[in-house]
Amino acid sequence: MAVDLHFKTLSELQALLSAGELSSVELTQALVDRKEAVDDKVQAFNSLDKEQAIAQAEAADQRRAAGSVLGPLDGIPIGLKDVISVKGQPLTCSSKMLENFVSPYDATATTHLKVAGAVLSGRLNMDEFAMGSSTENSAFKTTVNPWDLERVAGGSSGGSAAAVSAGAVPVSLGSDTGGSIRQPASFCGVVGFKPTYGRVSRFGLVAYASSLDQIGPFGRSVKDVATVLQTIAGHDPKDSTSIEQDVPDYAGAIESNKSPWKLGIPKEYFGEGLDPEVKASIQSAIDWYADQGCEIHEVTLPHMDLAVAVYYIIATAEASSNLARYDGVRYTHRSKDAENAIDLYFKSRAEGFGEEVKRRIILGTYVLSSGYYDAYYLRAQKVRTLIRLDFMKAYETVDALLTPTSPFVSFKAGEKNEDPLAMYLSDIYTISANLAGIPGISIPCGLNSEGLPVGLQIQGKPFGEADLLAIANAYEEAHDYSSQHPSL
Ligand code: GLN
Repeated sequence: MAVDLHFKTLSELQALLSAGELSSVELTQALVDRKEAVDDKVQAFNSLDKEQAIAQAEAADQRRAAGSVLGPLDGIPIGLKDVISVKGQPLTCSSKMLENFVSPYDATATTHLKVAGAVLSGRLNMDEFAMGSSTENSAFKTTVNPWDLERVAGGSSGGSAAAVSAGAVPVSLGSDTGGSIRQPASFCGVVGFKPTYGRVSRFGLVAYASSLDQIGPFGRSVKDVATVLQTIAGHDPKDSTSIEQDVPDYAGAIESNKSPWKLGIPKEYFGEGLDPEVKASIQSAIDWYADQGCEIHEVTLPHMDLAVAVYYIIATAEASSNLARYDGVRYTHRSKDAENAIDLYFKSRAEGFGEEVKRRIILGTYVLSSGYYDAYYLRAQKVRTLIRLDFMKAYETVDALLTPTSPFVSFKAGEKNEDPLAMYLSDIYTISANLAGIPGISIPCGLNSEGLPVGLQIQGKPFGEADLLAIANAYEEAHDYSSQHPSL
């Protein structure tokens, strides 16, 4: 395989396919070979059905030969986090609970990809049921960082970020409940986009915390994630939280929407705990926008210090309810030595769930229990509203907010997973976007002195994806960070 094929962007691959210089079968085969060459090290994939992928690629090549190309994703391989349903493929959520489960239907996002002719190339590793920030909570394996194999890829969509970073797919899908797209994107030096809550249907996404979950794309460029977002966004009668609103033309918006923008710098993101090198990278990005004539405003999000606590109450409460369905009776892991029905529930859940998932179920059950509901859950909901109002107030003066995605670069595997609180605190910069329901993107903004990627987070107004993509794209075009790749 040509060495440079696996790091090409979706737009570059599209151009090669259109020019007849590459077939989808050649591309898919080359990426399967790449996966086989690097995934023993990276561990991004839970599974990959090669025959199915090649068959989809053949169909794409036939369409192209017949002059009926379906669109920009036709014939392009895409990997899916193992929490998004694809009919007939495994859907494990990286949990023993669903180890042998095969999805009976497609998620709506999957249906959109199929209609667009994408080649579904693999199921990507994650923290069990999307709970975690390092992929170390996968029941199967830890996905490591292609830039440094001793470090984590981030999480929970670590496989989706690492597969793109390692050159095994040009684009992938993940899910983001508290940062699970943006943080691994930042750790792995790729672009990751969390849309506004309601922009993309969650039908067929295994639920973690339903009021926070959102599906979104990873890619090597802002334009590539815009292309995937365009394909999967839109109202879906099967998800009542998806909004009935037209999806703008994102590619067009990227071209037409130009600086100067008004950009906010929330001071709460630059305090204690922020790594000095990360801070310096973000500052230089802010300076760059200022040099382009953007107005830079310091803004404040006064309830930000409560965000981690609020998130871990609401997310665990919703998780405890959502995960009640895994009872060992119907389609999940079923204990072999249960003595009666009650024992079956206990043993199946005890054997099927990992430690972190159990911790969350216990926490969530506690905050919802009578006597504690008002003190924890109800108060958390009220503070959640205050957090959203903080953002809306900031957006009265600015178009978007510039911040670090994570307080630090990727950490060493094993460094934080014995200390849940340290792991929870690592989400500090990403979770408030989910609490507020707003969109956010992480784009590469350089490497630190150890050669590890730093991510710039840009958060936008509700349904302001088009502006956000334009702002991110301007920075990307003026820097070559997105074309830096791990040597592996
Ligand atoms: N790290 C956060 C958590 O563990 C966010 C996970 C996510 O976005 N799925 O809940």
